[in-house]
Amino acid sequence: MMIINKIMNYAGSNSKPNNAQTHDASAQVEAYLRSAPAMIHSINSDGRIRFVSDFWLEKLGYDRRDVVGASSLDFLTPASREKALKIVQPQLFKRGFIHDVEYQVIRKDGTLLDVLVSAFVHDRESADPKSLSFITDITGQKAAERKLIESESKYRGIVEDQTELVSLADPDFNLLFVNTAYAKHYGTDPFKMIGRNIFDFVSSDGHKSLRDHLTRTIASIETQHDENQVTLHDGTVRWVAWSNRAIRNGDGQVTAIHSVGRDIHERKMAEAKLIESEQRYRMLADHSTDMVFQFDVNLVRKYISPACQEILGYTPDELIGNRALLAVHPDDLEEVQSGFLDIAEGRRERGSFTHRIQHRDGRWLWVEAALRSTRDPFNGQPNGLIGALRDITAKKEVEEKLAAVNRQLAILAAQDGLTQLYNRRSFDEMLAREVKIARREGTTLSLLMIDVDGFKAYNDRYGHPAGDDVLRQVSATIQSSLKRPGDLVARYGGEEFAVLLPNTDQTGAAQVAEIIRANVAQLGLEHRSSDWGIITVSVGVASAANSISTRLRQDALLKQSDKALYNAKRSGRNTVSIKGEKA
Ligand code: GH3
Ligand code: MG
Ligand code: MG
Repeated sequence: MMIINKIMNYAGSNSKPNNAQTHDASAQVEAYLRSAPAMIHSINSDGRIRFVSDFWLEKLGYDRRDVVGASSLDFLTPASREKALKIVQPQLFKRGFIHDVEYQVIRKDGTLLDVLVSAFVHDRESADPKSLSFITDITGQKAAERKLIESESKYRGIVEDQTELVSLADPDFNLLFVNTAYAKHYGTDPFKMIGRNIFDFVSSDGHKSLRDHLTRTIASIETQHDENQVTLHDGTVRWVAWSNRAIRNGDGQVTAIHSVGRDIHERKMAEAKLIESEQRYRMLADHSTDMVFQFDVNLVRKYISPACQEILGYTPDELIGNRALLAVHPDDLEEVQSGFLDIAEGRRERGSFTHRIQHRDGRWLWVEAALRSTRDPFNGQPNGLIGALRDITAKKEVEEKLAAVNRQLAILAAQDGLTQLYNRRSFDEMLAREVKIARREGTTLSLLMIDVDGFKAYNDRYGHPAGDDVLRQVSATIQSSLKRPGDLVARYGGEEFAVLLPNTDQTGAAQVAEIIRANVAQLGLEHRSSDWGIITVSVGVASAANSISTRLRQDALLKQSDKALYNAKRSGRNTVSIKGEKA
């Protein structure tokens, strides 16, 4: 200002009109200002330009004669002109100076120039005060500024729409900007967060790790990632994953830290829970006597519990990482493989498989594997299976023995001990079944009742054991007299036998009865107490079919055959009697 003041003392040629020396000097100064590489002009109090520098003319593209004498306002845009007229010029001539006023100036070619004007008035007391203006071209700077504002508002527009937490902090980590999502996450408003330090939102035990992370961020040109716990407005603590990047100026100095955060609290909690439950189950599995295992979707073994040493003779390390089904018996492989895959790939939730597997020493073991499908805890996709396998070889052997015993028992329960024929109980069942079949198929069912003649007397004479022997021979004879596979014989009582002849009419039944009677007589077993002198049998025959008039009934058939037998006895024994026929 001092220098300009001095210059101005000489610049205004009319300021001291009667001083020729001053006039000369001011002409000299004016000549000097005219050729200075700066935009300079001088105006009268009426706003008319009385002097411009060459540089001024060159910069704006005008001739001196276009400018000198014209109003300085003519070179301004309408907005700037209004500002000059209403504010700047009155102020200039009142206060004596203006400083860094922004104008837009119109060049001769119509383009605009952004300028900064500083001016002051000298000879304020004189009748004709003048001002001298120094003008700086700030077009480039303004353009950059406008671009910055534009890009900044664009940036804000973008980040405001984001659900991610976006912030900008200065190199001392004070927040310069946070988006709405960021403030919302912390439970407050953006303006309440600006100026606060990001360490304020992290509890002190997390400061070291945050400092390390930020140091890394500042040292790197790449985005750095970190996960930390932040304290919200209400004091709750949540996990956030951060991607932080240092922003640098042209000299490479860090001017800001740009952060993008994502709340990962739920994920972190699920992870922690998973680890905990994994540890718990791992412990259970490690101590189980069953072989506990985990396979992936391709049935590759991911985990095998130590019990496999006991069961299969391998250590877990020998099995983990290999395909699961290598040791399965070839005959069981197809079923086991498709079953295991169904569960590993999630088509079935669970399943149980009994199959054979080879022990390290070559033995085949029966094992039972209970499986359950597993899923990825984060995306829910099937990711394999877990299972427990136990050796059931011993159990299987016992089961097989038991089944054999049961089969034997069933036979014994149905058999008569003396003759090996069916006993009364099983005969009753078979009769009931045959009655049903005959009813359904409309066939005739025949029943023979056979009784040894004078058997009491036989026992009395020859003794009970001899009697038993006779019963055995008679039963074998009856059995061998039957030719159809469907014919059945049972010991119905002490010395009484029953024969069922399915799908056999009365004539056929009578023939069979006669054959039996004859064959027994044929044995020629001595029986001195009998009129016949040998063991003989009497046979009662009954036949029935279901019809509209008579329903085939089990009890009726038994009664009829009994009655026929009674008739045979009455007619002298060693004979066949047929139901309905007179003795
Ligand atoms: P009938 O000609 O009228 O049939 O005369 P029966 O003596 O054969 O008739 P009864 O029913 O009076 O006698 C049957 C005898 O059969 C009585 C019993 O001593 C004998 N008995 C029954 N079961 C057995 C057995 O399992 N073993 C022996 N040895 N005898 C038996
Ligand atoms: Mg009898
Ligand atoms: Mg008898």
